[in-house]
Amino acid sequence: MSDPTPDPRPRPAEAPPRDLLGRNPRDLRISVTDRCNFRCAYCMPAEVFGRDYAFLPRSQILRFEEIVRLAGIFVRLGVEKLRITGGEPTVRRDLPDLVRQLAVLDGVLDLTLTTNGSALRTLAAPLADAGLRRITVSLDSLDDAVFRAMSGADMPVARVLEGIAAARDAGLAPLKVNMVVRRGSNEESIIPMARWARDEDVILRYIEFMDVGTANGWRMDEVVPLAEIVARVDGAFPLEALPPNYPGEVATRFRYRDGTGEVGVIASVTAPFCGACTRARLSAEGELFTCLFAARGTDLRGPLRDGASDAELEALIRSVWGARDDRYSDLRSAGTANLPRVEMFAIGG
Ligand code: SAM
Ligand code: SF4
Ligand code: SF4
Repeated sequence: MSDPTPDPRPRPAEAPPRDLLGRNPRDLRISVTDRCNFRCAYCMPAEVFGRDYAFLPRSQILRFEEIVRLAGIFVRLGVEKLRITGGEPTVRRDLPDLVRQLAVLDGVLDLTLTTNGSALRTLAAPLADAGLRRITVSLDSLDDAVFRAMSGADMPVARVLEGIAAARDAGLAPLKVNMVVRRGSNEESIIPMARWARDEDVILRYIEFMDVGTANGWRMDEVVPLAEIVARVDGAFPLEALPPNYPGEVATRFRYRDGTGEVGVIASVTAPFCGACTRARLSAEGELFTCLFAARGTDLRGPLRDGASDAELEALIRSVWGARDDRYSDLRSAGTANLPRVEMFAIGG
């Protein structure tokens, strides 16, 4: 006869899910809004996302307690790194409250935020006080005219630079800056940005212009490839290659030979890294995307609001992840260019 007394020992945790290519989820990117105060032409071109564009109504956007609950389930599944993104995450009201709740989740080793920097002058300190550990600011040029033309921003680049200074003062470190490089728009900013980042002790990441979404008119000849970016920077400030910090790191990294820090390139077009892609993405309306280039996500908000238990939500996430075979960038070709896919501002970078 079996013993009816329950075994008091904790059940060994179930193994993290593996997808069809053997990858397990390690990072979760959480989009907290699909709205943005900028109109970067490579992300939300103003002609498409004008005054009449229908962004998500508030009722459809995950509330903070819903985000925290889902994030907790992902962390139990092995996610160690959370990145808050958008749209522009700082346009979401009370963002520090969300940071405070995510920062105390057991098992989160890294909590960070990607922002266009426009609100950091006032928000950097409250975000750091709430437990944010580091930050990535997107900035495509130091030249005011180029900055405004690329971002559609109704503010000078000085505002973003003040935001970066405020982030430093608040102790958010290391400071990273992402610069999307688009031929014909800002390749002349490659060297000035490298010089500035060296002087400011900022880790600069050049990003190849990607074919995300369907609105940005992406063309291969507007991609400035990793090799060209590195050659340009190396010509001004000699570089040597660095090994990855950890398996699956997306940036190809270099250090300056004179010891003044590092720089990297995120080359998802010319040097794709799908084989080690451990990123899951949660859209502002609560859909789970397993690839930046996916056409569709899986609704988690519906089951969550219908009363699903944590175990049921975990099982759903496991099943989606277990069926994952995404490797869009590895397979990118002329034939994939016009496939339907989600817009990047909807799921975050
Ligand atoms: N609004 C925030 C920002 O700009 O940092 C967060 C969201 S934004 C979608 C995240 C990142 O995606 C930014 O660094 C942005 O430059 C990058 N991004 C957007 N569209 C891109 C594209 N077509 N190619 C490469 N990077 C892109
Ligand atoms: Fe806004 Fe960021 Fe997209 Fe630019 S890249 S439009 S700042 S969401
Ligand atoms: Fe990951 Fe998809 Fe990007 Fe490949 S294309 S690295 S699978 S998000």
